[in-house]
Amino acid sequence: MAMNIAILEGDGIGPEICAAACKVLEAANDKYTLGLELIFADVGLKSLKRHGSTLTDQTFEIVQSSDGIVLGPVSHLDYPPIQEGGLNPSGVLRKRLDLFANIRPAKTRTELQAPLGKPFDLIIYRENTEGFYSDRNLYEGIGDLMVTGDVAISIRRVTRQASLRIAEAAFQAAVARGKKVTAVHKQNVLKVSDGLFLDCCREVAARFPEVIYDEILVDAACAHLVRTPEDFDVIVTTNMFGDIISDLTSELSGSLGLAPSINAGTQHAMAQAQHGSAPNIAGLGIANPSSLIGSVAMLLKWMGTQHGSSALIHASQSIDAALEQALMTAETRTSDLGGILTTEQFALTVAKNLA
Ligand code: ATP
Repeated sequence: MAMNIAILEGDGIGPEICAAACKVLEAANDKYTLGLELIFADVGLKSLKRHGSTLTDQTFEIVQSSDGIVLGPVSHLDYPPIQEGGLNPSGVLRKRLDLFANIRPAKTRTELQAPLGKPFDLIIYRENTEGFYSDRNLYEGIGDLMVTGDVAISIRRVTRQASLRIAEAAFQAAVARGKKVTAVHKQNVLKVSDGLFLDCCREVAARFPEVIYDEILVDAACAHLVRTPEDFDVIVTTNMFGDIISDLTSELSGSLGLAPSINAGTQHAMAQAQHGSAPNIAGLGIANPSSLIGSVAMLLKWMGTQHGSSALIHASQSIDAALEQALMTAETRTSDLGGILTTEQFALTVAKNLA
């Protein structure tokens, strides 16, 4: 069955790591006869320059009709206001395509030095469509506003439906992993909204008696993630907490450049590195593309599960294995991990490793 993957390169290091991820994807496509067609569409600053918007309707149509999406990091802080074409593609696509689960794994590897020197393997299920994200938590308008010239407020939205579905996704993942879910919250302060979130997590926990369930305040979670990261398996949390603690966990695993993720809904999924557009190293050819290559592997797994395709699932596992193999030795790493390979050379190594 022929399938399309929309490729949106993004800003900063986006084009470099997207090109690297596409090299691996194309190699897997040929090797395992996946029948994938990659369709490139403009997004971000390049799209703004060419079409007057960082996310055009045309790009959205391509994305909407695709079977999977790869989005490079975007520099949306540098975009003009929305009225002048500066839409945040990441937020808009997550909302419009209802990509409710931002799934962010982080793990150490024995051959790779990590700051803590302790092994861990965890995965964060971050709610992706509401919370404190003012660009997506209202039906219309932005929930981050000035009440007077000196007073600003932000609206945080937590719903039963969104909390239940992210909790369900987290518990399903735990069944196939270490059988433990930890809900990260701030219910001592956000009594009503995080109270609702925890009620939903407990309701779902009751349906999964084989999974150990516990809860931890977000501030304590940060301390425990540094002290005893091995105690965590699946973390479920609201949007902003998930965004923040996943940077902590990916850096604790060795480098932000290692951190993959997908944004998944029931109809669509989007591969996206956890990190930003790293303008400080853009254009130098030194960015670590592992994050996006790993994200592409996650996307192929999602697509394979969705379409019942063992070939896609096999390709996903093979990309993961080829990536791990490249990360094993210092000679085949990028400079953030003490290696000497460029972004492109690293991608070629991973492609060559595909078994
Ligand atoms: P943005 O404004 O888009 O969020 P940023 O530079 O503020 O970009 P990140 O892109 O998340 O934030 O980068 C944080 C740090 O991690 C930077 O020093 C960057 O160089 C480094 N970094 C991020 N991604 C990678 C990568 N793929 N390879 C190597 N280093 C990276």
